Amino acid sequence: MSAVNFSTASNRSIQSLSATRQTASRPAWEQSAVGFDSSSKTWHSAHPMLPMPFVPASVLRIVQETADTKTFVLQADAPWQVRHRAKAGQFVHLRLEIDGQPATRSYCLSSCPGARQLALTVQHQPGGLVSQHLHRHLKLGDVLHISQPQGEFVLPVQLPEKILLLSAGIGITGVMAMLRDLQKQHYPGDLAFFHVCRDPAELVFSTDLCDIEAHMPTLSLIKHFTHQSGPLTPQALRYELPDLAQRSTWLCGPTEMLDAVQGLWRDDAIAAPLHVENFATARSR
Ligand SMILES: Cc1cc2nc3c(=O)[nH]c(=O)nc-3n(C[C@H](O)[C@H](O)[C@H](O)COP(=O)(O)OP(=O)(O)OC[C@H]3O[C@@H](n4cnc5c(N)ncnc54)[C@H](O)[C@@H]3O)c2cc1C
Repeated sequence: MSAVNFSTASNRSIQSLSATRQTASRPAWEQSAVGFDSSSKTWHSAHPMLPMPFVPASVLRIVQETADTKTFVLQADAPWQVRHRAKAGQFVHLRLEIDGQPATRSYCLSSCPGARQLALTVQHQPGGLVSQHLHRHLKLGDVLHISQPQGEFVLPVQLPEKILLLSAGIGITGVMAMLRDLQKQHYPGDLAFFHVCRDPAELVFSTDLCDIEAHMPTLSLIKHFTHQSGPLTPQALRYELPDLAQRSTWLCGPTEMLDAVQGLWRDDAIAAPLHVENFATARSR
């Protein structure tokens, strides 16, 4: 088990439609003005009362987070829809056509609710149809189609006094949006963000995490690198977080991790709520 202070330089590279200037406390892609706005033509041509399950969203920026993970920063047609309705932790369905065939997958919003642009962070799955397509072929200016945000994996309006955001691998996306949201709300409670990945090179959002940690004194950021500390065990989690049983927890990661943490909650008869998001679903093409 390790609580490593990760302070190496960012390994992210950013493609952008507009030049950006980074400042300390906000992700690079949130800071710049929107390079172009393809919005509204399609939206305004439709009657506002018509159901609009999918909206076009243009790719504004592509950020290489780690070797196998990219963030796609999007400007949705009708951005107000997302701004007013999205909650941190929710996901959208992404619909696209690959070789003339439709394909739909779900992706959590990794951006903060209310941000001018929304972001999806996608890990390339070897042999995966959609993630491979997005990584290899998606370019700036391309248009995707996204659903309205949905899902119950969200923070309550009345925030608990102690929160744990617990994730592994690409399961970080939804809880990262929650962390951004809690920072924006100046959450005064006791917040622990615990993330598990193989090594520092695989830590998605490493720069943003360091940055938020520097600006949020109530945050305990714990990184568990399995390469040096082995797999996360219930004992290790109890050791790192002695007050675990008092923390309302939001959990997302691989199935084995979800099972292990749910088992821990059962075995220790923990009364604090455990909210779980599972990325594993049937393939829809
Ligand atoms: C609510 C929710 C939120 C999510 N959020 C995110 C997110 O923020 N970021 C993210 O990266 N992902 C997220 N996902 C996962 C995402 O929806 C996709 O499942 C993921 O990107 C893989 O899709 P794909 O088309 O690339 O892979 P698929 O083509 O669906 O394949 C998945 C895996 O199965 C293998 N496979 C495919 N077909 C077969 C077969 N016939 N036999 C054996 N193996 C096969 C592939 O090699 C691949 O490794 C989320 C899922 C859910 C349900």
